Amino acid sequence: MTADQVKEFGIDAVRNAIAERRISASALAGEFFARIEKEDAEIGAFLTLSEERARAQAARIDEMAEAGEELPALAGVPIAIKDVMVTRGVRTTAGSKMLDNFVPPYDCTAVVRLEAAGAVVLGKLNCDEFAMGSSTENSAYRPVRNPRDKKRVPGGSSGGSAAAVAAGMAVATLGSDTGGSIRQPASFCGVVGLKPTYGRVSRYGLIAFASSLDHIGPLTNTVKDAALVLRTIAGRDAMDATSADVPVPDYVSELERPLNAVRDKASGGSRSGNSNAGDARGNGPLRVGMAKEYFGAGLDAEVRSAVEAAIQKLASLGCEIVPVSLPHTEYAIPAYYIVATAEASANLARYDGVRYGFRARGARTLGEMYRQTRDGGFGMEVKRRIMLGTYALSAGYYDAYYLKAQKVRTLLTRDFDEAFNKVDVIAAPTAPTAAFKLGEKVDDPLAMYLADIYTVTANLAGIPGISVPCGETREGLPIGLQIFGRHFDEATVLRVAHAYEQSR
Ligand code: GLN
Repeated sequence: MTADQVKEFGIDAVRNAIAERRISASALAGEFFARIEKEDAEIGAFLTLSEERARAQAARIDEMAEAGEELPALAGVPIAIKDVMVTRGVRTTAGSKMLDNFVPPYDCTAVVRLEAAGAVVLGKLNCDEFAMGSSTENSAYRPVRNPRDKKRVPGGSSGGSAAAVAAGMAVATLGSDTGGSIRQPASFCGVVGLKPTYGRVSRYGLIAFASSLDHIGPLTNTVKDAALVLRTIAGRDAMDATSADVPVPDYVSELERPLNAVRDKASGGSRSGNSNAGDARGNGPLRVGMAKEYFGAGLDAEVRSAVEAAIQKLASLGCEIVPVSLPHTEYAIPAYYIVATAEASANLARYDGVRYGFRARGARTLGEMYRQTRDGGFGMEVKRRIMLGTYALSAGYYDAYYLKAQKVRTLLTRDFDEAFNKVDVIAAPTAPTAAFKLGEKVDDPLAMYLADIYTVTANLAGIPGISVPCGETREGLPIGLQIFGRHFDEATVLRVAHAYEQSR
């Protein structure tokens, strides 16, 4: 089996090929490293390779296969991890000079779970500095190029995670999504990206950006592979008090249930009081909400027609399309950029030259050392956000900005709760445009922030969302269909995305 076939066949095919000893995990890892060597000079998806760790894991899997043991679900599957998740003994930078020499002493829970399921970690993936950005141009190392058009960005901040899958340099990757950073790059690179419900996947070992908005999730070639990875990493973790103790359904076996059958009985359910999942259950076709707020000014015409066609396709698969309203959507971007920067300003206070990574040399006082370290270690966008967030939290402005943003957040969450009384999922574009050109928005932070207009709402409300490819522009750039679901109902989100994907 070659790397190209792997891209076509996905996780199950890899595992089976290894179990049947048609290929060894070690040989496959070798093929992927060779491919990275060849392709990645131009793309820039990887910051660090973990060859030793990969080879040791692959050898373990090969021993199991030789002994005829039952292989775990991700046995021998080559994966890679966004460099905001810590990996024991493997440099972890968060795309920042601040952590250029940081080698963590422990592993992120999601990575532990993937390796326990047999996955082979090839390395760490480029991203915007501390996951702040929408194009991966804020990486302190180098921008990532979109494998579908190398003059264009791959999206961000998980640009390396999306590009690695799109270029066949990993079968699956992990990304993080604080305001869209899994879904938007998935859409730009033509792959699948899933942001789960807040609390579904442990954040232990995820370098914090905005703790109430941060999520870990998979980027893959297919919806089924996303379901397999989510099933592996989801569930309560004693190391993260915000990880939820909600049963994890078998997302994979749920995928094949038809959309026009009985709604939803076996899916994840809802935390009581959080959404109104119970009310909408019953018999009948799955109801897909369409909110006019996601199809207004600023939406590119080609993206609009591709997404509308995808929704029509869902209708032809037996879904009922229902208009819904999410009236506070217009306030999502300002609310997000207050909450996210406020939390970031607090989270990034720890980078002071004492505890981790970079320390400026030659300072004469402690205060000078702090200032010079933070000035030299952080890039422009990170500094801008620390300043914005510190301002929003300062005495005298707290009520006007932070508290107000939190109230808007509640209204946005209620919008979704009400919509989910009427529908089972909501379909929308993932991003207002296809991938833009490198350099196009770097000098205009506001234009960059608007790239997240359709994704930040799910982070503010904590609901799951997936981006699945739904066509291309005339120039051949991928377009993404986004599907939102109720809290903890990833099963339905995945099922709808899978049915759509299979129908194309
Ligand atoms: N692009 C958004 C931002 O810059 C989202 C980032 C993310 O999801 N990590 O904040």
